[in-house]
Amino acid sequence: METKTPSSNFIKNIVAEDLASGKVKEVVTRFPPEPNGYLHIGHAKSICLNFELAGEFKGRTNLRFDDTNPVKEDVEYVESIKRDVQWLGFEWDGLFFASDYFGEMYERANVLIRKGLAFVDDQTADQIRETRGTLTAPGQESPYRNRSVEENLDLFARMKAGEFADGQKVLRAKIDMASPNVNLRDPILYRVVHAHHHNTGDQWCIYPMYAYAHPLEDAIEGVTHSICTLEFEDQRPFYDWVVRECEMKWVPRQYEFARLNLTNTVMSKRKLKLLVDEKAVDGWDDPRMPTISGLRRKGYTPEAIRAFCREIGVAKSYGIVDERMLEHFIREDLKLKALRTMAVLQPLKVVITNYPEGQVEWLDAENNSENPDMGHRKIPFSRELYIERDDFMDNPPPKYFRLFPGNEVRLKSAYFVKCEEVIRDSEGNVVELRCTYDPETKSGSGFTGRKVKGTIHWVEATHAVPTQFRLYEPLITDEAEDDGQSFLDHLNPNSLEVLEGFVEQGMKDSVGGDKFQFFRHGYFNVDPKDSAAGHPVFNRIVSLKSSFEV
Ligand code: ATP
Ligand code: MG
Repeated sequence: METKTPSSNFIKNIVAEDLASGKVKEVVTRFPPEPNGYLHIGHAKSICLNFELAGEFKGRTNLRFDDTNPVKEDVEYVESIKRDVQWLGFEWDGLFFASDYFGEMYERANVLIRKGLAFVDDQTADQIRETRGTLTAPGQESPYRNRSVEENLDLFARMKAGEFADGQKVLRAKIDMASPNVNLRDPILYRVVHAHHHNTGDQWCIYPMYAYAHPLEDAIEGVTHSICTLEFEDQRPFYDWVVRECEMKWVPRQYEFARLNLTNTVMSKRKLKLLVDEKAVDGWDDPRMPTISGLRRKGYTPEAIRAFCREIGVAKSYGIVDERMLEHFIREDLKLKALRTMAVLQPLKVVITNYPEGQVEWLDAENNSENPDMGHRKIPFSRELYIERDDFMDNPPPKYFRLFPGNEVRLKSAYFVKCEEVIRDSEGNVVELRCTYDPETKSGSGFTGRKVKGTIHWVEATHAVPTQFRLYEPLITDEAEDDGQSFLDHLNPNSLEVLEGFVEQGMKDSVGGDKFQFFRHGYFNVDPKDSAAGHPVFNRIVSLKSSFEV
């Protein structure tokens, strides 16, 4: 399957035109996360878009924390976001915090007040909401809308000085309560919040609203192309109003693209935080999470994520991307890179009765059958082995070519073995197989005497490394749209399966982040958190096959 080269997108065309016409001299973009959670794969799309766009035109990209909401934000999130952006392979030019601009934002609000374009409102949040009108009916003007400039300046200064309680007063823009665009019906600019801020501490007790702060942040930084998701399209008139009426020197422009949605997951920090807080997962980096840190821990590479983001491109319309497409890109990335080894996830003991006791021979095995450059390794073989429990059946259905009483199979990279006897416990469960091997059939010996239909994998017992395997299914399989918390009631109870088995002795010292392809099982990553020296734990990244074509 071939991967397409980065597709041209409409934002790229706009940037190219703006540079050609001289409207901008250098393209400046920004990635502006709110530090209220860990980044997810949707953010990766925005990161790739902003950094690659500026990179392609030799411009700059800032990482800016949109930290205007102290109650939900935290330095833990700031640090995780920086780590994730860097891990994806991007370097920011400037590192900024919206909170660094609180002083200037306050001054600009005073400019608005002096121009008669902002007023202090004493109505409650409920009253303001109730008088906003609807899409078809205009809103009602606040009874406080015609306060004098002097009174507004005084009240706003007293809001800042801490004279009012949370919710007691807000600063609102004075635009048009009858505007067909609801966002222009005297939107709130500032509210009183007595809360500690992760960056500015207790310096402020009034905080700017996102819609007011964001255009100012872009203007202060000289951002040329402010790229955001489509829900902000209706905010664009207000964005332009703020830049114009606050008399900002630099005029940034906002462009919108469709946000990424994936099947079988939730994609909002708020919902992901609920999963963490409700302990439905093992933290933000649980491999079942669509967070960048979760994908990394599961075993995704930055290359695979970037290739995925390029492939989905930049559209103006909504769509849900099949998660199998993301899986396609990690398979593609690891196909020729990952060592191909054997792991037994659910072991069944096999004794080769005609193999000399105490003897160990070292067999040749290819490291990657599709990439000869990866060379060969030696794997031990002896009288005792483990095979996969479901590679044996007492009463096989037709076309079952693996082991059953009297049947012969090939052990990958080793010999033909034949099942001679089945050992059971007192309850009749199969606990061991007694087999014979044929020394003539050694892999690579050119043996052509007879053929067998099945090849199974195995691990030699005395050298085998006991390990834990973690297999994942989607956290959410119910694709029904829901809002609020109800998705927590529909979590897949089988999203995590933990198995205890064995890997080849050569993988004993693998470390967190090492990636392998296990014969027949798929791609696995050594868990960076739960592995200890000599005791790797493996997370399955993805199985081998997919029905999905890009
Ligand atoms: P969430 O609801 O998950 O918190 P958000 O949009 O509020 O998302 P921000 O931290 O404000 O999160 O987002 C930073 C940037 O990432 C914004 O420019 C936003 O448009 C973009 N972004 C967020 N989610 C997606 C997504 N699913 N697809 C593409 N871009 C996204
Ligand atoms: Mg948000």
